[in-house]
Amino acid sequence: MVEALRVHVAGLVQGVGFRPHVWRLAHTLGLVGWVRNDGAGVAIHVEGERASLTEFCRRLAEEAPPSAIVDSLASERAQVLGLGDFLILDSTQGRVSTRIGPDSAPCQACLAELFDRRDRRYRYPFITCTHCGPRYTVTRALPYDRPQTSLASFPLCRECEREYRDPYDRRFHAETTCCPACGPTLTLLDAHGAPIVGDPLEEVWRLLQAGRIVAIKGIGGFHLCCDALQSQAVAMLRARKQREEKPFALMALNTASAAHWVELDAHAIALLESPERPIVLLPKRKIAEQMPVGIAPGLAELGIMLPSSPLSYLLFHAAAGKPDGLAWLEKPLARLFVMTSANPHGEPLVIDNDEALKRLQGIADAYLVHDREILVRCDDSVRRTTGFVRRARGYVPQPIRLPRPGPPVLALGGFFKNTICMTRGDEAFVSQHVGDLDNPRACVFFEETVAHLMAILAVKPEIIAHDLHPDFHATRYALELGVQHGVPTLAVQHHHAHIAAVCAEWGLVGPVLGLALDGVGLGADGRAWGGELLRVEGAFYERLGYLRELPLPGGDAAAKEPWRMAAAVLACLDRAHEIFERFGEEPAATTVATMLAKRFNCPPTSSAGRLFDAAAALLGVRRRNTFEGQAAMALEGLAARQGRVPALPDGWRIDAENRLDLLPLMDFLCDCEDAAAGAALFHATFAAALVDWVAQTAQRVGITHIVAAGGCLLNQVLRTLLGEGLHARGLAFFLPEKLPPNDGGLSLGQAWVALSARFPETS
Ligand SMILES: [Zn+2]
Ligand SMILES: [Zn+2]
Repeated sequence: MVEALRVHVAGLVQGVGFRPHVWRLAHTLGLVGWVRNDGAGVAIHVEGERASLTEFCRRLAEEAPPSAIVDSLASERAQVLGLGDFLILDSTQGRVSTRIGPDSAPCQACLAELFDRRDRRYRYPFITCTHCGPRYTVTRALPYDRPQTSLASFPLCRECEREYRDPYDRRFHAETTCCPACGPTLTLLDAHGAPIVGDPLEEVWRLLQAGRIVAIKGIGGFHLCCDALQSQAVAMLRARKQREEKPFALMALNTASAAHWVELDAHAIALLESPERPIVLLPKRKIAEQMPVGIAPGLAELGIMLPSSPLSYLLFHAAAGKPDGLAWLEKPLARLFVMTSANPHGEPLVIDNDEALKRLQGIADAYLVHDREILVRCDDSVRRTTGFVRRARGYVPQPIRLPRPGPPVLALGGFFKNTICMTRGDEAFVSQHVGDLDNPRACVFFEETVAHLMAILAVKPEIIAHDLHPDFHATRYALELGVQHGVPTLAVQHHHAHIAAVCAEWGLVGPVLGLALDGVGLGADGRAWGGELLRVEGAFYERLGYLRELPLPGGDAAAKEPWRMAAAVLACLDRAHEIFERFGEEPAATTVATMLAKRFNCPPTSSAGRLFDAAAALLGVRRRNTFEGQAAMALEGLAARQGRVPALPDGWRIDAENRLDLLPLMDFLCDCEDAAAGAALFHATFAAALVDWVAQTAQRVGITHIVAAGGCLLNQVLRTLLGEGLHARGLAFFLPEKLPPNDGGLSLGQAWVALSARFPETS
């Protein structure tokens, strides 16, 4: 007996080859009906024998195309229409609630064509299909159709059109498909913007071999590229980019090549090879000491990624002598490129050809450009095997599932490492890393990102959340938008947001004890918080304790100059006379000593980050940061190499107001001659003190769920020690995994607090 079913599939199911999958499956099982995209996903009407229908429903999700994510699949009995065939129908317009996929590295099938001389897309840098290619960075708005992408200006040739219309073809409705006959083209320009004749890729390889720097238009923005194995080229790039010591990311052909330089385990290999293609921070092998010093000076890790686009594959192809077939892709290749973001002076990434010629003038010797426009700027993602450092290309705009739905909330994040979050139902969409909002270009990018996120989600916020700090650009913009949209705004304390982000990610709706270990955030009392123990439950928090405050000599200057924090510690230990002995060459040494003595321009801070700075400077590891967190990273590197040591007994005190005081430990470090031993002792003792403090408090307030977040949780040594210590005390411990622990995660926390404040009872 013939029966009929209406099936609805929701999730990431548009633009990923889902309809052809349905079509093929229906044909295989001899079913009739139709499939089409609608405003909420994919709708299917299917008719046939019951057994076949059951099998259809099962295989629908099980055999879904690789880039698809099926969130829900609902089916109900329907009327038999007596159709003669199975058809793919045009989309219906409707409420837009489907998604745009993230950008994805070339699939195996596309790579096979890319390196096949007989294929019409042989060496074509813009090859793509429904399983791979750019998405988020080339799409203006929903619905995800070619006219909404930057391929709109490239009408399909007859052959591409045929593939696009053929449900049996991998490029059926591949919105960004194209070929050499109809698609974008690559051009190499010299330093003055004049075209360089010849094969652009071979010319780039020639320039790189000659030690030149080439700006290359990537997926989400320009990279600056040079041969990573030529010291002079690396040094020149560093000098031209004025990027004193911040590490450069590297690109290797495959994991077999990367394994020469860094330690790889199965998890690291899986991450490197994932279609998201993040930069993965991996421990250097001994041989990495032979690399040019300028790549990652003083750090124990290298940031490596594999090719994320056909274009980057083609660069290696040229470097390997243009071999045929795919075998070479698996073999080690002794070529390594620096691929660092082209973002002069910490401003947003360059995405536009003309902009590149202007802003990268004096840095790049040549420009490898093309006419496929980047519509959305998106940095490379950076992560470790344990979690994110920066979440952007490849992951955005994948939503994070919230513990429960609520009204649409827009949250605008903080000042550093800004991201934006918009919720829709029970999904939170966190934007790509926007960056520090300390320059006008970054603020423009921030505003564009807000507008784009609202456009691709097609929702208007009912409440807008922001940081407590009144002077942040993000805060002012939130207040403006609130007036514009006539909706309420909500200020969320920085560390409350840090902890709430982890609660949102892990679905923790009950009370948690939150340990925020951070640089700085404005506290409810107007002081600079940063080492906090908070009881957090949805929209509410209570400060249960904090790190003993230290004076911050010169305010914000102290974050850039760790020696000032060392001076502050010396002053607190009644060892102020040592400030000049130890830091006499610092031009501000006398001023700082005076400031500390008179408590002038020394706002107190409970920051955990500054404690790391103080330890690094006291141990002589680093006195100044050329980039954020540098001293702390160097200290961690030393501790990691040193290995495990026992904590210093009596290295800390907890007072009646539940303040944790690490001065006894710092006093000991002042007289420590061995920096590595001191670094290890600092980590061991700080972690033991935190575990003690948290466990005591947890017992007193009757909470067993501990959440930690904040920039200091990027520190692997601290993470591990804290986790082990808290587990040993029988406590459940949660860390951020889907977002970075630093300020990149704030927007999600703000959104979750606002959503909980608005609908406290809907759990
Ligand atoms: Zn493909
Ligand atoms: Zn074509």
